[in-house]
Amino acid sequence: MIIAVDGSAASGKGTLAKRLAAHYDLAHLDTGALYRCLALHLITEGRTATNVTESEAAGAVGSIDLLMAGSAAIRTDAVAGMASVVAAMPAVRQNFVSLQRQFATQTPNRRGAVLDGRDIGSVILPDADFKFFIDADLEERARRRTKELQESGQSAMFRDVFEDMQDRDRRDRERSEAPLKAAEDALVIDTTRLDADSVFAVATSHIDGNTNPKRR
Ligand code: C5P
Repeated sequence: MIIAVDGSAASGKGTLAKRLAAHYDLAHLDTGALYRCLALHLITEGRTATNVTESEAAGAVGSIDLLMAGSAAIRTDAVAGMASVVAAMPAVRQNFVSLQRQFATQTPNRRGAVLDGRDIGSVILPDADFKFFIDADLEERARRRTKELQESGQSAMFRDVFEDMQDRDRRDRERSEAPLKAAEDALVIDTTRLDADSVFAVATSHIDGNTNPKRR
């Protein structure tokens, strides 16, 4: 079983993807971490959102350290901002396609995979068995992210987080290559007033209730 979970920043898509993976014994890939690892690598090399070029960002995809995917260093808003800048570059996205598709299809000892990101259901895995698109009001998402950053010991002000997220949303939704949008056959879940348990319940009842995958 292949599940695509797409959505906006701090919408709850990562939490849902992890829980679905554990529940159905599926491998899980947070594809945002790939773009974040690339962004961190480029920042470490002295690149900024204004001076990084598409060819150097795309060329750096092969040198990123994927072990950083689990590190707190990629979870800052500065890294997220740079990630959304390089993620708008077609050559960068292209260089991440095969890695993501391979992950989805080669899942030893697992029954399939869950990938979460922005374009999984629309571009990377258009034939996924189930697709979810997770979204919530910007203000609520900024509140969640501020709390998360503060709890991880980073100083964060709601207004700054809100503005950074608004910019990032705009870049993700308006880019020409693989913009953030729900695939036509995705189940859209608005999490503004739902907690993680309720979102998980909606998703699992959708999966369990569909004998014929890809049907809503
Ligand atoms: O999901 P996360 O917030 O970690 O993603 C960081 C950035 O990476 C996003 O704002 C987006 O620009 C980019 N991204 C993407 N496509 C994906 C996953 C992430 O463009 N599949």
